[in-house]
Amino acid sequence: MRLARAGGVGHPLVMRRAYALLLLALPGVAGAQTRFRFPADDPTGDYFLRKPIVGVDHDPTPGAPSTQCTNYAGQPLPYCYNDHEGTDFLLRLGFSTMDNYDVRVVAAADGEVSAAHDGEYDRCHGAIGSVVSCDGHPNVANSVTLRHADGLVTKYWHLKKGSVAVAVGQKVACGALLGFVGSSGESSTPHLHFGVEDKAGATIDPYAGPKSQPLSYWTLQAGPFERPGDRCAGVPYPDARPEAGIVPRDSGPAVEGGGGGPAAAGCSLAPGPASPPGVLALALLALLLIRSRRVAGPLPRVPAAALVVSARRSGGARRRSRSSRR
Ligand SMILES: [Zn+2]
Repeated sequence: MRLARAGGVGHPLVMRRAYALLLLALPGVAGAQTRFRFPADDPTGDYFLRKPIVGVDHDPTPGAPSTQCTNYAGQPLPYCYNDHEGTDFLLRLGFSTMDNYDVRVVAAADGEVSAAHDGEYDRCHGAIGSVVSCDGHPNVANSVTLRHADGLVTKYWHLKKGSVAVAVGQKVACGALLGFVGSSGESSTPHLHFGVEDKAGATIDPYAGPKSQPLSYWTLQAGPFERPGDRCAGVPYPDARPEAGIVPRDSGPAVEGGGGGPAAAGCSLAPGPASPPGVLALALLALLLIRSRRVAGPLPRVPAAALVVSARRSGGARRRSRSSRR
């Protein structure tokens, strides 16, 4: 179900906030709520960008330009885009990382596989503002959907072709392998789209914040970057920080590597030759700095693939196949 846009008491955004407040008011209920770990393996932080993480859009303007959005913390593009209904975690250096590493997508919590799809083309691509192309193949994502004990549903989209490791009906434990990060479906660069829905199919933003709700669905939402913690519920973090309910600090728009502010909206990644993950951060930093200077004045152009995630989904035709898109 789409993130609702209409106002009123029955507005799902309002209802979601009311639900979150209810959870806070009833500790027993809150304790039963499924909480999620970072839905991929990246123990050294080399595979995924730490920023931007592209979140759920809380701007109630359907059909607005893709640049019009507000994430859980009130941040604009590139921390969201219009009508986005999940959270995107993007691979550093895009296809280079995808091709050279099987980056593991894992269950964010214990659950049961309610849908799984594989076999689709996984090199879909697109530039900022352009339509995603799957080179003539259907824009359909390889994906896994899990249903959790409390009825929450999590979705993992854009997986690599042939990587889906689970089948419908299978029970999976938190941290279990589901597949590898790819770029199948409505995806302009290799990334994991992680979607959370309630029992009724309404989008939930797992991040706590002034635009979402006061309670985080992550096992840990804190730290200098905004990627959630990678420990399953019930597994303590070494520094004994609380497991949930953390409202993120207001760090303001900033992109890893120092390319902050509006210039980061068009940050680019060069699809260069394979590089060991340890140097990817340096390469990204250089590219972001170059990009920032490009915006400020005439500088040499850098061949680059756009760092934009899946195109927004809107309209009935797209909605019908939403479970396998984005
Ligand atoms: Zn997405």
